[in-house]
Amino acid sequence: MTETLVGFDEVLERYDPAMGLEVHVELNTNTKMFCGCPATFGGEPNSQVCPTCLGLPGSMPVVNAKAVESAIRIGLALNGEIAEWCRFARKNYFYPDMPKNFQTSQYDEPIVYDGYLDVEVEGETFRVEIERAHMEEDTGKTTHIGGATGRIHGADYSLVDYNRAGIPLIEIVTRPILGTGAKAPLVAKAYVAALREILLGLGVSDVRMDQGSMRCDVNLSLSPKGSGKLGTRTETKNVNSLRSVERAVRFEMSRHAGILDAGEAIFQETRHFHEDTGTTSAGRAKSDADDYRYFPEPDLVPVAPSREWVEELRASLP
Ligand SMILES: [Zn+2]
Repeated sequence: MTETLVGFDEVLERYDPAMGLEVHVELNTNTKMFCGCPATFGGEPNSQVCPTCLGLPGSMPVVNAKAVESAIRIGLALNGEIAEWCRFARKNYFYPDMPKNFQTSQYDEPIVYDGYLDVEVEGETFRVEIERAHMEEDTGKTTHIGGATGRIHGADYSLVDYNRAGIPLIEIVTRPILGTGAKAPLVAKAYVAALREILLGLGVSDVRMDQGSMRCDVNLSLSPKGSGKLGTRTETKNVNSLRSVERAVRFEMSRHAGILDAGEAIFQETRHFHEDTGTTSAGRAKSDADDYRYFPEPDLVPVAPSREWVEELRASLP
């Protein structure tokens, strides 16, 4: 595949960018999402685990009420609707950092939907529409030893720490952000910055991008200028600073344009971001048809926050 980078100004002569931002936020609750283990950062590996967050047979999860409260407060601060009734679902996939072989998440019934955040870039206001925010649990953390890159490829062996498994996460997903043109990279950065400020103000997370308590995935596609169609997107994972969000958008715009200019098609995939060079490299193929065999979590009752509680939380927003 061609990897010719097109100059940023030239990209904009022929293409319109569309972005989508997915931000994962670790909540700063005392305990994990579905068990009583401490949710603090930096403990001795595998010291903050129990049968529930290790997914041992017979263990039963219980929803952390404080995490639900934080999710609602985030939703209200993002001008969102709070579901009257929603459920958790099992997202099934196999990966060594996920001891249950499914992640307890929300699928078609998120707790927050239809919000927005207005961000200002160089005197112009852009409304970023938020499709949903849902509750889920974090995975464990894998460290690959040996090999030059720290990735699994070329490593001698891997270590898994499950302290992070089960820490409450909120994933905030935007609708496609259109009409930003040359300001696309700055709008992306401004959105993540504004979101970070709001979360800090709510006191629901320490939002340390460097420690991974706030992580951003950047979706980007280009369409022929004025066509109004969405092109094929790539998803750059774990972009972990505000500056990197801007750079990831800028780089992917240049890279996509090079491929499209050559008459080739964008391959839908995840990409790794490289902080040192500001570039991305291919990850795994990703299709919209990825089958996680979602189904409602049978071990948890639905979450049905009363309207009175929601209004109480709304009135208490800073
Ligand atoms: Zn636990």
